[in-house]
Amino acid sequence: MTVRRIWIEEGCISCNLCEDLCPEIFHVPLGEVCVVKGDALTQATAPKVAEQLEEARTQCPVEVIQVS
Ligand code: SF4
Repeated sequence: MTVRRIWIEEGCISCNLCEDLCPEIFHVPLGEVCVVKGDALTQATAPKVAEQLEEARTQCPVEVIQVS
């Protein structure tokens, strides 16, 4: 699947799990909500990163990671 867009809906609890699982795509600044890195779509073309992205999406405790 080609990833066209990655975004975070409202409700991130800054748990840092997504950055732990997939630091190529996610960054959680101290005390702030998660941000998707600027080159995330390019990074997601690598199969290993795409796999980590999917893991983060499914494991986010509040299910706010969206991928299309
Ligand atoms: S895993 Fe979900 S709740 Fe945790 S920092 Fe990432 S987006 Fe936020």
